[in-house]
Amino acid sequence: MNTDDGFVGAVGQTRLIRLRRISEETGCEVLGKAEFMNPGGSVKDRAARAIVLAAERSGELPPGGTVVEGTAGNTGIGLAHMCNARGYRCIIVMPDNQSPEKYRLLETLGAEVHRVPVVPYSNPNQYQKVAERLARSLPDAIWANQFDNTVNRQAHIDTTGPEIWAQTDGRVDAFTCAAGTGGTFAGVAHYLKSRRRAVRCVLADPPGSSLYEYVRSGTLKATGSGSITEGIGIGRVTANMQDAPIDAAVHIEDADTVRHVYRLLREEGLLLGSTSGLNVAAAARVARELGPGHTVVTILCDGGAKYQSRLFNSEWLKQKGLAEHARSTRGGEPIDVRPVMID
Ligand code: PMP
Repeated sequence: MNTDDGFVGAVGQTRLIRLRRISEETGCEVLGKAEFMNPGGSVKDRAARAIVLAAERSGELPPGGTVVEGTAGNTGIGLAHMCNARGYRCIIVMPDNQSPEKYRLLETLGAEVHRVPVVPYSNPNQYQKVAERLARSLPDAIWANQFDNTVNRQAHIDTTGPEIWAQTDGRVDAFTCAAGTGGTFAGVAHYLKSRRRAVRCVLADPPGSSLYEYVRSGTLKATGSGSITEGIGIGRVTANMQDAPIDAAVHIEDADTVRHVYRLLREEGLLLGSTSGLNVAAAARVARELGPGHTVVTILCDGGAKYQSRLFNSEWLKQKGLAEHARSTRGGEPIDVRPVMID
């Protein structure tokens, strides 16, 4: 028999998918790590698993205890699954500007969801700070603290990085992805560099994030204003991003992100979220810069079903001025997608 032991055993060992059209166009092997195939549906299952298991090992999280986190979504989803699988109460504090599907999903999973207004990080009512206070006020509770708890990055040093190395037979030339906490980028980059220093690690950054300018000039300064992407882009160097080996950064506009989301759907048959589109746009750019014959790996972070009311809704895209980018390179009219109403 070839089986996995429950949710915990089923996280990771995801496929590495060759993106055919983008590989052909660039003359490179452009490969996407299929993190949407994790049992909770995203790359954050790895961090959620590692954080809960580490807190159990250290004794901070006793049987029947509580896990609290401030999260834009996917970490909360991973934690809610982990809490169900291991018998913990799960409390999630979320900014109130996220896709409606995410709140609904978290509630379905049995998490207690607290929505708080969007305020700057410096404000004591910012969602991560609310989560920290809440955890401290409850008995037997931990604050997962995905941004500064480096168990997050370590999960990718221990699993995602080695998987990519093994799946490419060590022939990976470049790695690129965006940072939300930075756990994925920093962990994978650390591991790949430990195997071969020449692996080029390129940070992909959305509008409104400060890391692109930080890599270019050393100053934390936002490039552009907001982005339609959810769960990526940061205004500070988190503990997980501290000392990450970054060779270069690319800034990806939302138009490019949407174009790649729809290319993945129409050309590769993959329904994925916006951060996957941004990552693939970055991988295509890195591949073009390197020239033919190279292998470029990126992360396909989560599936698209959670974003039907936004990214896959023509009206919403129109409001954002992005509808014309929802077409494939095969040409033709922009794809007219209607939201699926869930009530
Ligand atoms: N993509 C999605 C969809 C996410 O939810 C996140 C995490 N918020 C990321 C990318 C970024 O991952 P990390 O926190 O490891 O930087």
